[in-house]
Amino acid sequence: MLEQKLEIRKLRTKLKQHMQEAVPDAHIDYCLTCGMCVSGCPASGIEDMDPRKFLRLLVLGQDEKLLETDWIYSCTMCQRCEYACPMKINVGRFVYELRGMRPKDKRPKNLQRSCDLQKESNSTGIPNDDFVWVVGDVLEEVRENEPEWADLQAPIDKKGAEFYLNQNAKEPTVEPEEMVPLWKILHVAGVDWTYSSKWWDGANYCLFSGDPEDWEKTVRNQAETVDALGVRYYINTE
Ligand code: SF4
Ligand code: SF4
Repeated sequence: MLEQKLEIRKLRTKLKQHMQEAVPDAHIDYCLTCGMCVSGCPASGIEDMDPRKFLRLLVLGQDEKLLETDWIYSCTMCQRCEYACPMKINVGRFVYELRGMRPKDKRPKNLQRSCDLQKESNSTGIPNDDFVWVVGDVLEEVRENEPEWADLQAPIDKKGAEFYLNQNAKEPTVEPEEMVPLWKILHVAGVDWTYSSKWWDGANYCLFSGDPEDWEKTVRNQAETVDALGVRYYINTE
């Protein structure tokens, strides 16, 4: 705990320097305070913050305010600010860095829990066997109740398929019927595709928690699964 406090105190004196080192082309000192970033930002005004104000706090060394504001979880990291900015300053990228600096026990609980679960398997924590069972069950139901879709497919671990699809874990967990429209589109298009029975979750909450090692692990696990299946194309549905 003491170590954590010392680390935060150290950061308070050098947040701008950290951003300049961590973010390529940070351009923090180029800000014209024109406010173009504010106009298109969906998080402007939330928590009494907007991207221009965020940047002024950074320039003026108000590190404590930046390290403590929960606005970083309202910023969607959409990069509209960068798109609008005449100096191409990407506030969302600084937000990502700040999220990663926040101690894990001070982050939004649901976000951190989803990331932690994802590192083990998937973001809702359902067993892989349940995913396989739900896909099979929903498929059977569609085939039975909709005769025109009697030959619909939802393959899992199909070796050598052309396309690999992942799946937002919320759907098999709470809205399994939401998986079906995509299966139908792929069927009509004649696409040869497959899910996998492990690392099948398309969401990556560790990206949003600001932990590069964790979200890389999630992507690597999935990429290795795709390679092991010998699939040619990887489609991330998220
Ligand atoms: S648009 Fe760019 S230059 Fe203008 S206030 Fe925002 S960050 Fe500064
Ligand atoms: S990245 Fe964040 S600050 Fe920039 S426009 Fe999107 S929500 Fe606003």
